[in-house]
Amino acid sequence: MSILNELENYMDDELVNDYNVQDESTIDNDIVRYANEAIKTFKESIDIWDDIKITYVDSIDELGKFRSGTASSTPSVLLNKDGINDAVDKYNVPLETIVTTTIFHELGHAMCEYDFDIYDSKFFDYDDEEEFVEDFAEDLYKYGQVSEEISKLLSQVREDK
Ligand SMILES: [Zn+2]
Repeated sequence: MSILNELENYMDDELVNDYNVQDESTIDNDIVRYANEAIKTFKESIDIWDDIKITYVDSIDELGKFRSGTASSTPSVLLNKDGINDAVDKYNVPLETIVTTTIFHELGHAMCEYDFDIYDSKFFDYDDEEEFVEDFAEDLYKYGQVSEEISKLLSQVREDK
């Protein structure tokens, strides 16, 4: 077994042990549908990964969480379904917006880790990663666009494939 496979197995065990993983069949259909659409939209603009893993949990405080250490294989994002439903009520924002921007935000962190792991942070230059990924999520969600530094990273990824 390759080191990458071992690492993935280890991460899967950690996922089950550390988070209260919810069976996807128990999750609100709309959340799952919007999440799948968000992944599709993301992949149409950002072709770094063939697979992106979404896991539904109820044991995190945030709406979503990127699991660090997964960006160079299959990025893994945790979604807090209860937190998402609460946010819809609290901020009076459509479910689709919350689910999509949460996923884009967390995959923004995955891109930052990818740039760091693979390219020694050659492409992204930010002081505040939260701000950087928030801008990324907004650009992609509202305008269907990515910034120039992200475009440069993507060109390099394509060249290296
Ligand atoms: Zn964040």
